[in-house]
Amino acid sequence: MALSYLVIGGNGFLGRHVIDQIRQRKDGSTITVFDITKPAEPDTDVTYLVGDLRKYEDVLQAMTGITAVIHTASPPHVNSSNPPRDLYFSINVDGTKNVIKACQDAGVHVLVVTSSGSVISTGEPMVNVDESTPYPPEAIDVYTESKIECEKVVLAANGIKQVHTCTIRPSAIFGPGDRQLIPGMLEVCQRGQHRFQIGNNSSLMDFTYVGNIAFAHVLAAEKLAADPNSPVGGQAFNLTNGTPVPF
Ligand code: NAD
Repeated sequence: MALSYLVIGGNGFLGRHVIDQIRQRKDGSTITVFDITKPAEPDTDVTYLVGDLRKYEDVLQAMTGITAVIHTASPPHVNSSNPPRDLYFSINVDGTKNVIKACQDAGVHVLVVTSSGSVISTGEPMVNVDESTPYPPEAIDVYTESKIECEKVVLAANGIKQVHTCTIRPSAIFGPGDRQLIPGMLEVCQRGQHRFQIGNNSSLMDFTYVGNIAFAHVLAAEKLAADPNSPVGGQAFNLTNGTPVPF
């Protein structure tokens, strides 16, 4: 199905794989990237717009001629005793509200947003959970608090002014271009901190291949575009490669 995609955060790890997945459809779709950074190696078949999600006018301008938005942008998740709360909320919540409003004002009907598997995490291993699992009473960290709030505003917007929305929840993502997972593990090794084990090795963690997550975003966008009454609208989808592994 030929769509005019706006990939928000399209210069990031997941965003670049979303672009690859759209390209692989070979269906005549066009790709525009909206990102706060310029691409290191621009592709000739992609239009690049530099802008900040926190500025409504930037976002609205980017919607010209767009029929589907895939919003992957977020500040990176940092483990810190002093997490950047204002940054997380200004981009993940207020920035996402700008995206929703811009879709409504520009007449864009399809919006797929990257959430996180952590939104239902209790901090304990969770096996065979599904989308009926509620948000925990307290988020596991500030980043996740902002992702829960982001998800709530996206799902609540479904069907308003003919914008159809859903969210995709990856857990840890691996694959080519990863800037967090494997680099983080290597840093731990380089610091010599790999000789310590916390816990008894029974904690579980889900790792999912980035191409699968990108594919899910494109499938969701296609489904929402093909059928505005699709049950995909207003739903969050947990994404996994299969059984979680000890971590
Ligand atoms: P990334 O940092 O590689 O990419 C994020 C992109 O968003 C970057 O290109 C960045 O420049 C852009 N961006 C940030 N702030 C912006 C702003 N204000 N305006 C416009 N663009 C902005 O991150 P990623 O690993 O590709 O993650 C993509 C999405 O997946 C995020 O929503 C993240 O929360 C979610 N997620 C990632 C993981 C993971 O393991 N990487 C796990 C779960 C969920």
